Amino acid sequence: MQKTGLRPHIVPTRPSREEAEEAVRVMLRWAGDDPTREGLLDTPSRVTRAYEEFFAGYDVDPTEELSRTFEETEGYDEMVLLRDITFESHCEHHMVPIIGKAHVAYLPKTRVVGISKLARVVDIFAKRLQSQEMMTVQIADAIETALEPRGVAVMIDAEHQCMTTRGIHKPGVSTLTSHMVGAFKENPDVRREFMALI
Ligand SMILES: [Zn+2]
Repeated sequence: MQKTGLRPHIVPTRPSREEAEEAVRVMLRWAGDDPTREGLLDTPSRVTRAYEEFFAGYDVDPTEELSRTFEETEGYDEMVLLRDITFESHCEHHMVPIIGKAHVAYLPKTRVVGISKLARVVDIFAKRLQSQEMMTVQIADAIETALEPRGVAVMIDAEHQCMTTRGIHKPGVSTLTSHMVGAFKENPDVRREFMALI
């Protein structure tokens, strides 16, 4: 299967901060407000700074984050599972928040990685424009590529504000996606253990 999204599609020329702030002013006028009124004067610069935070994942390479692996596992070959990793992302269709939790597991073969790195990988992909399905696969692919484990499982449970605050307005609906690789896909016992633990 083709590895997706390990490197983001970076636009070759990034606009300047001034251009980004001007774009915010256009959107403010589109919303029906006046960007020159006092309360909105600093909004364009605040929004662009917020975007730097929301989308900080474009400047980071997740495979590099996972590159410091440890081969001395002391024979540890059971499942490593990180549960309830909270994340905030933005949907690529409406640019509104997706807020949820990721559960990430792998079965080591020869390499393990610092546990915090797994949470970091979730964050890197979350801090980009996403679809939940794409993000689920990207996290699994990055771990598979870096650790070459016996298996990887990723499950994401999230609420999409494009469904709760607009469109069909269905608050409280959460979306579940999962991606299983290797033993998690092939062995029902391993998969069941993962599902029982999360
Ligand atoms: Zn959306």
